[in-house]
Amino acid sequence: MSSNQQTLRDAAVIEGIGAFTGANVRVEIHPAEVDSGPSFELDHEGKVTIIPVAVENIIETENRTVLADLNDQTRQVNFVEHVLGALHGLGIDNATVRVNSVEIPMFDGSAVPFINAIDKVGIVEQDAPRREIVIDKPIFIDDNGLLMVLPSDTLKLAYYLDQPNDYAGKRLAQIEATCENFRRRIGASRTFISAERAKDLVASGAVKHTDESQVLIVHKDHVSQPLRFANELCYHKMLDILGDMYLAGRRLRAQVIGVRSGHYQNRKMIRKIAEEYM
Ligand SMILES: [Zn+2]
Repeated sequence: MSSNQQTLRDAAVIEGIGAFTGANVRVEIHPAEVDSGPSFELDHEGKVTIIPVAVENIIETENRTVLADLNDQTRQVNFVEHVLGALHGLGIDNATVRVNSVEIPMFDGSAVPFINAIDKVGIVEQDAPRREIVIDKPIFIDDNGLLMVLPSDTLKLAYYLDQPNDYAGKRLAQIEATCENFRRRIGASRTFISAERAKDLVASGAVKHTDESQVLIVHKDHVSQPLRFANELCYHKMLDILGDMYLAGRRLRAQVIGVRSGHYQNRKMIRKIAEEYM
């Protein structure tokens, strides 16, 4: 991976159906200046709001990651984790994600649609050294799930999944977050939820548009679709970690290890990291 900052060669454009609204959503990922970092530009209801990717702009929510304007939290973008995971995983330091809805579509539940759109336009090196958060001591979050970051020469991820009551079971995966591994495994892995949780979501009306092409449903003894490769479920947890570990707006150099962790622990960790390193 380049030691200089990188951005896109041109705007990457992708459209899909939003899970909340059921409406068509257009996402444009634009090149951005050196040192500007990742940001969102919400172009919705006749107004444009810039939402920088920064820990101050994170909203506490369940099962997803949301960024909002500090001064008007109704101006928010839901499901930012996979597009941020793609930017982090592909080594893109500077980009503006313009979206015309309050949510980023789930597409197939993985980061593949973002990877393909970005690869179509290409990635270019910029004339400034990369700025990273280099972790130099262990940090732990131990709160209904364990998440730790340790010093490491490169970004490495490990995840231990522990859902003994359904097909997910107990699984461990570990991998270095190179661009190649991101394209092949981490970014290619899809969102999953337990059958029970899926039932609750539909019953509560939390989602309007959900089907098994967008999310893997994990039942007691099987998954709703064949897995793309072994440990896809663990790798998806790593995609979420990569996305959430980009919420401080800078790439991370560390080893990240998750055990039964999710967005909640990720947010606690990135806030702690931002406090100490930004
Ligand atoms: Zn996810």
